[in-house]
Amino acid sequence: MTYTVVVSPPCYASNPTIHSEANRPRQRQNLKTQKNNRGQKSGGASTTTTTTSGFGGKKKDPLWQCVQGCGACCKLQKGPSFPSPEEIFDDPSDSQSYKSLIGADGWCIHYEKSTRTCSIYADRPYFCRVEPDVFQTLYGIDKRKFNKEACSCCIDTIKSVYGSQSEELDNFNHAIWSTS
Ligand code: SF4
Ligand code: SF4
Repeated sequence: MTYTVVVSPPCYASNPTIHSEANRPRQRQNLKTQKNNRGQKSGGASTTTTTTSGFGGKKKDPLWQCVQGCGACCKLQKGPSFPSPEEIFDDPSDSQSYKSLIGADGWCIHYEKSTRTCSIYADRPYFCRVEPDVFQTLYGIDKRKFNKEACSCCIDTIKSVYGSQSEELDNFNHAIWSTS
């Protein structure tokens, strides 16, 4: 049983020069919400990817993707508003593995700051992969909710690292909405 805070995205598996997100701690509040939601059955309507907006119109949900030049999730020490590795992982070895990646500046030791890429992309840990299976294993997130949760995770992470007014956040929001 697990729900966690860390996750990273594999979205650029087809382009190894582009880094995917590393651990992406969810903020405590979100994690708590996720805990409370665990075990709930999803209604049929929850499988749809569209939501209703005002005046009877339909508005698509954003489509998650990792964006080039972000790397926010590779900052592994995100501060007190995010859960600790021990709160994230059930398996102590996962917690130890996670902590072993944290450099003196809080960023992953495999993160290439100049290019904002992962130097071990192909071999990065499972918790660095933003995939439905990983989200389900770590956070207990139903796979049908992966897209929405992954978008929220990235937004939380990008805000914490670069700020709410950052170019990185603008880029991410543009990417997920322009492809939805
Ligand atoms: S936080 Fe940034 S680098 Fe990490 S998965 Fe999201 S978009 Fe990609
Ligand atoms: S191993 Fe490090 S640099 Fe690579 S994706 Fe994971 S956190 Fe980021």
